[in-house]
Amino acid sequence: MAKKRNKIRADFRKNRGARPRTGDLTRKFAANEDKTNDAALGERLSGKGELTRKRTVVGEEAHKDDGGFAVLPDLNLHSRHGRVLRVHGLSSTVQADDGTIVRCVTRRLLRTMATDQRHVVAAGDWVHFHFDASSGVAEGVIERVEPRRAVLSRSSRGRQHIIVTNVDQMLIVGSAAEPYLKPNLIDRFLVTAEQHRIRPVICINKADLVERADLQPLVGVYSRMGYRVLLTSVRTGQGVDRLRRVMAGGASVIVGQSGVGKSSLINRVEPDLNLRVAEVSTESQKGRHTTTTAQLLPLAGGGYVIDTPGIRQFQLWDIIAEEVAGCYRDLRPYVSLCKFPNCTHTHEAECAVKDAVADGHLDARRYESYCHLRAGDLE
Ligand code: GDP
Ligand code: ZN
Repeated sequence: MAKKRNKIRADFRKNRGARPRTGDLTRKFAANEDKTNDAALGERLSGKGELTRKRTVVGEEAHKDDGGFAVLPDLNLHSRHGRVLRVHGLSSTVQADDGTIVRCVTRRLLRTMATDQRHVVAAGDWVHFHFDASSGVAEGVIERVEPRRAVLSRSSRGRQHIIVTNVDQMLIVGSAAEPYLKPNLIDRFLVTAEQHRIRPVICINKADLVERADLQPLVGVYSRMGYRVLLTSVRTGQGVDRLRRVMAGGASVIVGQSGVGKSSLINRVEPDLNLRVAEVSTESQKGRHTTTTAQLLPLAGGGYVIDTPGIRQFQLWDIIAEEVAGCYRDLRPYVSLCKFPNCTHTHEAECAVKDAVADGHLDARRYESYCHLRAGDLE
C-alpha cells in the first residue's frame, strides 16, 4: 500500500515541473513562497481536476506514513480537510478533521472568484486547506470551500452577507415561565428553520417553575408534527443530558428571547464554553452588530454551538407572506386542497385549512399564529 502511495507522489512532483521540489531547503523555501505569494498560475494551467487529485493524495499520508516521509521529505506539504470556526478579516481559524486548530489565509484565486460576497470563506464552511507544519510558516492556505447548505445570512446595501453556513440544527429556546411561554414566537422560529431547511429542536426551559402537565398540550402539538421537544431545567438539571446528546448531532444555532436561559443552558451543557450570547442583551453592546461575526464553538461531547450574538439584530425574518403556509408543517398538507390556488387561508370562504381547523385536525392556536405571521405581526 505504501508503495502505491509513493507512485502517486511521484506524479505530484512531475506535474509541478515548473517549480521542482528538490527535497532540500530550497524546496522548502519554494513551498513557503507558494503559500505567501499565492502563485497559482502554474496550477491553473494544470487544471482543477489534477489539482484536486494532488491535494487529496498528499493529504492523508504525510502524517500517517512515516516511511513515506523519509523517502519524500516534501510530504509535510500536504492538504487537509477541516471546518472554519471563525473568520477574522482575511484569515480564518480552521479546525482540521484531526482536531488541530490552524490559522489560515485564503488562496487569492478563491478570493478573486468571489465577486458578490464580502468574504469567500464563512464560519461553518468545510474547506480543504494546505498547511506545511515544517515550513516555519504558522499559517495554512484555504484552497477550496465545499458547497454550502443551510446558510444564514443578512443583506446589507444590496449584498448578501453570510453569517454562518452548514447549520444543522436550530435550538429554539423558550421558558415555561419567567418570561412566560410564547408559542407564537416558537412558531416564528420554526418558520425560519423550515425556510432554511434547518432541523428545529424545541427546548422549553425552566421546567422547574411549572407542573409538567401544564406543558403537555403544547408539547403534544409540536411532537405530533414531528418536532423534537425537550423539557429542561438548569436549576434541577432535568433534560440537560438529553440536550447535550442532541447538540452532539451537528452545528446548532440557538435562538429565543432574552431571559429564557439560553446562556445558562449552554453553560450547563458545557461549563467552559464562554458564550458571548449573554453579552449582547446589555445596552453597551448595541453597536456591536456591525462588526460581530459568528463563530463555531466545538463541544466536548461532539457538535458545535454557533455563537452568533447578532442573530436577533440580523433579522432572519425575510420571508414573503405567500411562503409562510409552506413553512407550517401542519398546514402544509391542506394547502393544495383549497379551492383557490392563491388562497391565503385567512378570509376565503372555501378553504381546506380553515375547514381542518373547524374539524379539529389543525390546532387552533397554530392557525392563529399563522394568521399573525402572515399579516406581518412578528412577535
Ligand atoms: P438568556 O438571556 O436566554 O441567555 O438567559 P440567561 O441564561 O441569562 O438566564 C436568565 C435568567 O434565568 C437567569 O437569572 C438564570 O439564572 C435563570 N434561569 C436559567 N435557566 C433556568 C431554569 O431552568 N430554571 C430557573 N428557575 N431559572 C433559570
Ligand atoms: Zn386556504
